[in-house]
Amino acid sequence: MQTLVADHPLIAHKLTALRDISTETPVFRSLTDELVTLLAYEATRDIKVERVTVRTPVAEATGVRLSRPKPLVIPVLRAGIGMLDGMARLLPKADVGFVGLARDEETLIATTYATRLPADLTGRDTFVLDPMLATGGTLVSVFEMLAARGAASMTAICLLAAPEGVERVQAAFGDHCPIPVKIVAGGLDDRLNERGYIVPGLGDAGDRLYGQI
Ligand code: URA
Repeated sequence: MQTLVADHPLIAHKLTALRDISTETPVFRSLTDELVTLLAYEATRDIKVERVTVRTPVAEATGVRLSRPKPLVIPVLRAGIGMLDGMARLLPKADVGFVGLARDEETLIATTYATRLPADLTGRDTFVLDPMLATGGTLVSVFEMLAARGAASMTAICLLAAPEGVERVQAAFGDHCPIPVKIVAGGLDDRLNERGYIVPGLGDAGDRLYGQI
């Protein structure tokens, strides 16, 4: 498994503004959008392409285009929806699947309440959007669903990750996993607190994107 923590001044700048408690919902949303596009650039580095030839006004040029089958982008409800537009900007032709997981605030165990995924993901690169990789329980569940459907690769894009979450995904999908697995995060924070929140983090990503409901 590959873990990539972004190391770029623009990402650090936007992430700092995102963390700020005084950043209100509209700005939080647009910062999330911009950050995802920047992270998606790195997350798609190994996406499958095929060689093609095109005719320029001057001559023939060889290049590449994205291979079929199309990649699948999976935002994890609810907060992952706030990352979808930023991802779609880079991969406008990707299909979009959905999974909904809610975590019990006492046990911190995530349960699945919605799944809308193709039954067969053979040959498809998949990109999971979830802003906060905290305990890792949600991401392990989603990766299990994708692996069981035959995904060719699984990449998670997160704004922030906690070491505990990365370790849990590593334990479940580490070197023994036959398909490429990658985590791309905007930052790796210190730890989780007793309520399973990332410290220093940015609070509840869903609440900050969509309000406390
Ligand atoms: N989910 C969030 O939204 N924030 C955290 O810090 C952890 C999980």
